Amino acid sequence: MGGTKIPYARQDVTEEDIEAVVRVLRSDFLAQGPVLPAFEEAVAGAVRARHGVAVNSATSALHMACLALGVGPGDIVWTSPITFVASANAALYCGASVDFVDIDPRTWNLSPVALAEKLEHAARNGRLPKVVIAVHFTGEPAAMAEIGALCRAHGVAIVEDAAHALGAACDGTPVGANIHADMTVFSFHPVKIITTGEGGLITTNRDDLAAKLHALRSHGITRDPAALTVADAGGWYYEQQSLGYNFRMTDIQAALGLSQLQRLDQYINRRQSIAALYDAGLEGLPVVRPYRAPGNRSALHLYVVRLPEHDRRVIYDGLHAAGIAVNVHYIPVHLQPYYQARGFRPGDFPEAERYYADALSLPMYPRLADDDVARVIETLRGLL
Ligand SMILES: *Cc1c(COP(=O)(O)O)cnc(C)c1O
Repeated sequence: MGGTKIPYARQDVTEEDIEAVVRVLRSDFLAQGPVLPAFEEAVAGAVRARHGVAVNSATSALHMACLALGVGPGDIVWTSPITFVASANAALYCGASVDFVDIDPRTWNLSPVALAEKLEHAARNGRLPKVVIAVHFTGEPAAMAEIGALCRAHGVAIVEDAAHALGAACDGTPVGANIHADMTVFSFHPVKIITTGEGGLITTNRDDLAAKLHALRSHGITRDPAALTVADAGGWYYEQQSLGYNFRMTDIQAALGLSQLQRLDQYINRRQSIAALYDAGLEGLPVVRPYRAPGNRSALHLYVVRLPEHDRRVIYDGLHAAGIAVNVHYIPVHLQPYYQARGFRPGDFPEAERYYADALSLPMYPRLADDDVARVIETLRGLL
């Protein structure tokens, strides 16, 4: 097996994307121009949300979402242990603490059964979380109807971490429509579904949250005449009314995102085709293929397999030696040294740890050719 190196993920940038970015570079506004609101509207429209607020990363978006919901010292935020560390760190930025809800062994998403138990226990002890951050891991929508009902019953707010799930849907409703959540967060890092280089976006249907997000994104400053405390103070006048940050996205980035967004359906369809090739090619092998619920449309950001009968390290190294840069998503967050130092221990979330022991992410990105998929399957077969 030879050939070129195959990464696990890669962006797709077209000549149209480049032209869209160059148009902004030649225009009057590199930041705070007209492209950013156009991008926000386009993403919000695509996922059927009322508001879209773009920021410089999904990490900032998660941080702002927690702040907008009033998360602070003394509060607790729950999320899945099988996620990127940013989902958990968001709570810590606000001075709150983090706890985890174990995953469902079939979907690898936050388990509604574990959530129900943990909520009942927390309610008895008066230690309910302020927010649950549900992650659509790999792009497969989490069980939001159940998670939403459980959280609402206990007055707990819900944020969906949809960093993997732009273009995903549940029973025909796009992820990001916020049917069961207060806010949804997307990422536009180059490995994700569409890219702005770095970037993120929050959707919400709540006007109050959208206003808070706008303030948090830009220093807590407003120029809206209706919101100012002083009337007719002059054209230069603005007020800082709360403490915000500079989490803004540039028009340069928004132009790339807006151009990429035109290909969203095409991207998800290609990811679905690649997944179908993997599904068929791995049939009959001692490999657990990723579950996709009927009624869900996964964005298939990742195609994760589990290798219960093999030493994952050997398979990982063998594929890398053959030029196939497979990866592992994720090391359970509670096992990171920083979280261990905060009191978490191996054994705390056994399904997440079992998952981590044998999971492997195969290459998955729209430009991955059928031949490359065949090469991955053949190399993997040879190693099993
Ligand atoms: C990528 C990712 C993030 C962070 O996104 P950035 O845009 O890189 O800050 C958060 N959560 C999950 C699940 C991710 O995969």
